[in-house]
Amino acid sequence: MILARPHFRWGWLLLLCMGLGMCLLPTGARAELPPTPTDAILYERPYTELATVAGKLGMRYQQSRDLKVGTLSSRWTSLKFTQNSRVMLLNNFRIYLGFAVAGSKGKLYLSSQDMRNIIRPLLTPQVFSHKPRLKKIVIDPGHGGRDPGCSNESLGMLEKELVLAWAMQLKETLQERGYQVLLTRHSDRYVENTNRFKYANDVNADLFLSLHFNSVPRSSVHGIETYVYTPLGQPSSSRSQIEEIDLKARPANHYDPWSTLAGFNIQRQLIQSIGGIDRGLKRARFSMLSGLNCPGVLIEGGFFSNRTEAKKIKSAWHRKKLAEAVAVGVDAYHNTLKKISGKDA
Ligand SMILES: [Zn+2]
Repeated sequence: MILARPHFRWGWLLLLCMGLGMCLLPTGARAELPPTPTDAILYERPYTELATVAGKLGMRYQQSRDLKVGTLSSRWTSLKFTQNSRVMLLNNFRIYLGFAVAGSKGKLYLSSQDMRNIIRPLLTPQVFSHKPRLKKIVIDPGHGGRDPGCSNESLGMLEKELVLAWAMQLKETLQERGYQVLLTRHSDRYVENTNRFKYANDVNADLFLSLHFNSVPRSSVHGIETYVYTPLGQPSSSRSQIEEIDLKARPANHYDPWSTLAGFNIQRQLIQSIGGIDRGLKRARFSMLSGLNCPGVLIEGGFFSNRTEAKKIKSAWHRKKLAEAVAVGVDAYHNTLKKISGKDA
């Protein structure tokens, strides 16, 4: 009942309209919304029964005996949903939904917004209009100058230095694959987060890749995670409640489907190449992504706070592997764009 407070009445209406596929944002480069079926209003939001989702996608639907797990499957693809969970598995890769899967009277339901913001971009991207091209890529090595990012003192590592080294390697790898590549910084220089997306917009980038490493107090935590900007009307992965900021459209929201498609391809390839813990494709309202006029992805390539992972990140060989994985993921995204636009994207 999180939208019950009076000043969220408009928010409720907005969410309902979005679920029904109406577009309340300015048009232009926005990926137009295909209609999304609504089978039920639960928690004051539109939901689609998983069996309906399966039917729309031409997939088989099975529910576990305890009715808590729903699986959609076709020859090449499986989607697994668990009641009350925000994590779905696409061919066993973790993706964070905006809202938890709901159960009602023995049936499982997916939020209609997640149907539109995650399922459609990944499984039927051809339904969106304004398919982007992909030629010019801006790489954004995080932090720099007076902002060191995270550190590992005992190993003598600073995030700002190692993301720059990773970015230089990625630039070379992407150029070898025929992309035009620019960087938001080439040296140990402080760059405001807003100037990072402004630069990408000024040079008319087709894709923005922000590179970071992670750190948390608990040293056992490790693995790779990839973020895209949170879609309008949904909470970021770090919280479950809608806040007012979630109802404000930002330029990055015009590219939600394409950021999701790019982010998933990159995260999947990183896990396939590097291995380790798949921390999933997540959403956050990161300021360096918010004002982008192109799809954007932020990659957290491992934890400085985990000694084993930090040692790997310190080695140039490992960073080369990280760069190659990102480049293969970018190529996979590009191949999908080419396939669905029927021309050289
Ligand atoms: Zn960082």
